[in-house]
Amino acid sequence: MKLLLLGKNGQVGWELQRALAPLGDVIALDREGTQGLQADLSRPDAMAALVRTLRPEVIVNAAAYTAVDKAESEPALAHTINAAAPQALAQAAAELGAWLVQYSTDYVFDGCGSVARDESAATGPLSAYGRTKLEGEQAIVASGARHLVFRTSWVYAARGGNFARTMLRLAGERDRLRVIDDQIGAPTGAELIADVTAHALRAALAQPALSGLYHLAAAGETSWHGYARHVIEWARARGHAIKVAPLGVEAIPTSDYPTPARRPLNSRLDTHKLRTTFGLHMPQWQHGVERMLSEVLGDKGTST
Ligand code: NDP
Repeated sequence: MKLLLLGKNGQVGWELQRALAPLGDVIALDREGTQGLQADLSRPDAMAALVRTLRPEVIVNAAAYTAVDKAESEPALAHTINAAAPQALAQAAAELGAWLVQYSTDYVFDGCGSVARDESAATGPLSAYGRTKLEGEQAIVASGARHLVFRTSWVYAARGGNFARTMLRLAGERDRLRVIDDQIGAPTGAELIADVTAHALRAALAQPALSGLYHLAAAGETSWHGYARHVIEWARARGHAIKVAPLGVEAIPTSDYPTPARRPLNSRLDTHKLRTTFGLHMPQWQHGVERMLSEVLGDKGTST
């Protein structure tokens, strides 16, 4: 089987290179291109042409415009990459009878209330990023292509920069930190997203009726403040240089940390549909975060 992976060097794309490998021949591309094959999502027509040339059975699109704040000042580019390109991919996939796997976000919701949202909940994005990701989802569904669209949240990976690494760096430099405590969600590892993608894709290939939208996030919930404290105390307990005092991580409301893009306060995703449809288990968020910390900090055998 031939699989086309787009955005191969992003957090999720990198892990997909590993997780998809046992399923078939993976052609992994990024915007720069490999062997004359370029996958630049800012050129939707070229993406559709690429698909028609390569004729993959599965397209996995891990590329996206993910700069949430910058999207407020570049909405047209964010729309092209997050909505027009997935639409073009979906139309080409529909023509070929190929599957399209796409990732979306809890930022398609307005984040009111405190209940975890399922796939049928009303959307209401607060930001340009959220709007463009929602338009991408809708275009895929409307195309008639077989698809798996996974909405996920608070993605991290050992590779590249991430919130946990930033907190560790700041905790090593400063006495006090101020971190938002009224946005609630589940940090979700790129490894988990990639592994779930491979399992779900395998089942869906055998049973096309499983085509659809699924919420994919680690179990449990926390705030950015709870996440930061967990990371810092985990590192402190293992003897890493931490300057910030145990009670020095101050909880602040979102209103004290203004950003160009508004973010939902309630990022909880209900993963019941994903778990029951594919017979999968979502581990607690701490599990993957501690594994990532072990990797980043070079500890051995400390994850449970
Ligand atoms: P990353 O930002 O780590 O990776 C995105 C990738 O897309 C990068 O490799 C980037 O390349 C590539 N890309 C950007 N623009 C283009 C373009 N014009 N053409 C080709 N490639 C491009 O994102 P994640 O891995 O974290 O996200 C994966 C998916 O999950 C996305 O759909 C995202 O919207 C979704 N998601 C992410 C969340 C998060 O917290 N990160 C939360 C919820 C959902 P380059 O590095 O060269 O720019």
